[in-house]
Amino acid sequence: MTDEERRYLTTHDAHDFAALRQRWAALIQPCSLTEFTLSDKGGFPVLAYRSRALEEAGDQSVPGALYLCAGVHGDEPAGVWGLLEWAEANVALLCERAVLILPCFNPWGLVNNRRSDAEGRDLNRIFHQTDLPLMAAWRELMGSTQFELALLLHEDYDARGTYLYELTAPELNLGEIGLTACEAILPRDQSLEIEGVPFENGILRRTEGMEQVVEEELDGGYPEAIYLFIHHARSALTFETPSEFSLWHRVRAQRCFVETVLS
Ligand SMILES: [Zn+2]
Repeated sequence: MTDEERRYLTTHDAHDFAALRQRWAALIQPCSLTEFTLSDKGGFPVLAYRSRALEEAGDQSVPGALYLCAGVHGDEPAGVWGLLEWAEANVALLCERAVLILPCFNPWGLVNNRRSDAEGRDLNRIFHQTDLPLMAAWRELMGSTQFELALLLHEDYDARGTYLYELTAPELNLGEIGLTACEAILPRDQSLEIEGVPFENGILRRTEGMEQVVEEELDGGYPEAIYLFIHHARSALTFETPSEFSLWHRVRAQRCFVETVLS
């Protein structure tokens, strides 16, 4: 273990939502971000940030718009911190590009180290539901905005390395580039099957037929990525780091993935 990793692991804030919020708050002014609160249930605010370019566009779509989300599952902290570190290192990009950021979609889960929300729901299966206030607020925030790319940051306790669900227009191929860059930090999961579906070199790539996947494989429950791909995004990449590896490397890999795919 390097001194840097030891220092990180012995002082980490992995499940400290207040610390996370404080660091995002420090980016609002330098990055010209506008903060939204989608829900404040139980004193756990679900925050969103829209960049100036996205705000100025209103409901018009901006070429190259980005959607970045972490922490839908609270027991997967690396994405939350990797996204924050990426943002702290990319103030200029945030000042220029149209970006919507959901820095921690399940703050109760993060604090309590739980996959579900406080009511026991897996938020990543209910993006089609409008009767839930959080999802209604999310949908209002989304409006009719079309994004070039959506990145959804997750972790998996069964994984043996990084892997990716890539929903994309057939002519695009960003996932491979992102996973390759991360190999300097964490290995790629070489399993031929993950969560019951076939993978090839850490990637499950789909370009169509997602409604059928929801019906046949997900009992009709819409994950964020599929909902986005059908309604709002040309590509939706769900990146996964392996939870049993060091948090230090997982956060580094999450940041590296975002950095690589957006550059
Ligand atoms: Zn997850």
